[in-house]
Amino acid sequence: MQVRLPDGSIRNYDEVVTPGQIAKEISEGLWRNAAGAIVNGQLWDLERPISFDCELKIVKVDEPEAAEIYRHTMSHIMAQAVTRIYGEDKVRLGIGPTIENGFYYDFDIEGVKITEDDLSKIEEEMKKIIKEDYKIERFELPKEEAIEFMKKKGQRYKVELIEEIPDKNVSFYKQGEFVDLCRGPHLPSTGKVKHFKLLSVSGAYWRGNEKNPMLQRIYGTAFSKKEDLDNYLRLLEEARKRDHRKLGPQLELFFINTDVAAGMPIFLPYGMTILKELMNLSRLLHEKYGYKEVGTPLIMNEKLWRQSGHWDHYKNNMYFTEKEEVTYAVKPMNCPGHILIYKNKPVSYKDLPIRLFEFGRVHRYERGGVLHGLLRVRTFTQDDAHIFCREDQVVSEVTNVVKFINELYSVFGFTYRATLSTMPEDHMGDEATWEKATEALKNALEEMKVPYVVAEGEGAFYGPKIDFHVRDVIGREWQCATIQVDFQMPERFEITYKDADGNEKRPVMIHRALYGSIERFFGILIEHYAGAFPTWLAPVQAVILPVSEKYVNFAREVSQVLSKENIRVELDDRNETLGYRIRENQMKKVPYMIIVGEKEKETGRISVRTREGKDLHDIALEDFIRTIKEEISSRSNTLKY
Ligand code: ZN
Repeated sequence: MQVRLPDGSIRNYDEVVTPGQIAKEISEGLWRNAAGAIVNGQLWDLERPISFDCELKIVKVDEPEAAEIYRHTMSHIMAQAVTRIYGEDKVRLGIGPTIENGFYYDFDIEGVKITEDDLSKIEEEMKKIIKEDYKIERFELPKEEAIEFMKKKGQRYKVELIEEIPDKNVSFYKQGEFVDLCRGPHLPSTGKVKHFKLLSVSGAYWRGNEKNPMLQRIYGTAFSKKEDLDNYLRLLEEARKRDHRKLGPQLELFFINTDVAAGMPIFLPYGMTILKELMNLSRLLHEKYGYKEVGTPLIMNEKLWRQSGHWDHYKNNMYFTEKEEVTYAVKPMNCPGHILIYKNKPVSYKDLPIRLFEFGRVHRYERGGVLHGLLRVRTFTQDDAHIFCREDQVVSEVTNVVKFINELYSVFGFTYRATLSTMPEDHMGDEATWEKATEALKNALEEMKVPYVVAEGEGAFYGPKIDFHVRDVIGREWQCATIQVDFQMPERFEITYKDADGNEKRPVMIHRALYGSIERFFGILIEHYAGAFPTWLAPVQAVILPVSEKYVNFAREVSQVLSKENIRVELDDRNETLGYRIRENQMKKVPYMIIVGEKEKETGRISVRTREGKDLHDIALEDFIRTIKEEISSRSNTLKY
């Protein structure tokens, strides 16, 4: 049996060998630092035997690939700790996977509701388990025996999981007294990683289904270095302060009524003001880049969706309604509507490209468990466009979209990276066509020098796509824009154009959205700016504060002047102290507070306090207006004062 190492060297073994043995042969240090291995591209336990020819890489604890291994082990350590604390007879285990930056485990604990206060107690027990440094051993059982084994332990969720495993044998991992059903891999022992933190606890339906029991999910994180853990916890703290689900209602931007409209945000006047600004900017740029705005119905006959392929590929995420025995679908996408527009009149090669744009309100069913503020919803508005073009125009059209994205994102100070997603298993159309479309996207990315990675098999069912991930001010990434090349839908709807040679040909269809969902983009902006929107977006751009009742009339005059200049202004003449009102407006993150009293009334000049706490006196009102208007029209990200 031959084992090939990353440096190209080959080692020969007679029967079986473990990655641990190989690591030890290479060096004692490598063995001590090893978290696991990658065998033929698959993560592998350090002590799991290999009996076949393979390529093998030892993964050290501080290498990125190790995170999956030690976080998974952490979830087992947490489950062991919870079982110890609450008793084996009371704790039923759900699943305990790793997630981005951490892990979780779902528990059903008889008669116990875990709160955030309990987390430190669980952490203490986990530290003990780490200190006890149990060997983590993998073993397999035939499926039937595995089911019996878990039945005896009263682990009914595990029994359910095993019953669905198609393999003959099922693998388990044992550490000390604790055994768990698991695919692995794991660290060789519980003492290998020490830097972890439990973060939160929340309810989660078993398998995400609202008809199932509600389990308790504990989230945690782990890193190989203390410094990385500390940095991550700092980031979380910063993110918590910026959470749009908290700031949204607090700043009177939006709320969600989960009773009657879960996943469907309700926008308040302030929130709507921001959405309108985002739409204005979008409309302006769409015009600049040669798009025509259109409007299509929210509900259309089901037959349209059968033809588009959504019926076969997307039905589970769609809403339906019925009237006079006709079934209608609520649109989950705007594409078929735009195709109807394309088909409305004959198209010649000279008419192409045709770029149709719509603020398209779509509805997509998402399970209750995954809904998240404005970020994961059931209805949203796409800044959606479809470009119909000739094949020879695809690269230049995609390039044009990337230029548009650059201009749009720079307004918010966002940088981004891209992912190119290729053909998924469930797809329409032949492979050669897919190949061609993927190549076109790749060419455009390279021409525009956009940094990108390839995500194999992650494309939409009708074509390959590019996703753009913006980076916010605290370094988090959000997927926003998407560009998809589609050779399929034009086939399905048999749309054509008349070419120069007089023949009817199929155009290519490019789907693209740049904010993605305007509401989601809004949610990201709330967190990006921590609610302190730049003046052009701020729902209230200036507030007038009379120092006392005596100056209310003058304050009203100032307010009217600003209002006439299209500045969003409010008058705060409540019977509260000036200090109180300043604090409140600062909390509301109003960019400018204009304070008027005796001196201001006499001179007609004003005092300004910025939300950042800067005080300016004796400013001519015209100067202030000129400056703030310039700040607004340039969509500046910073205050001019
Ligand atoms: Zn589309």
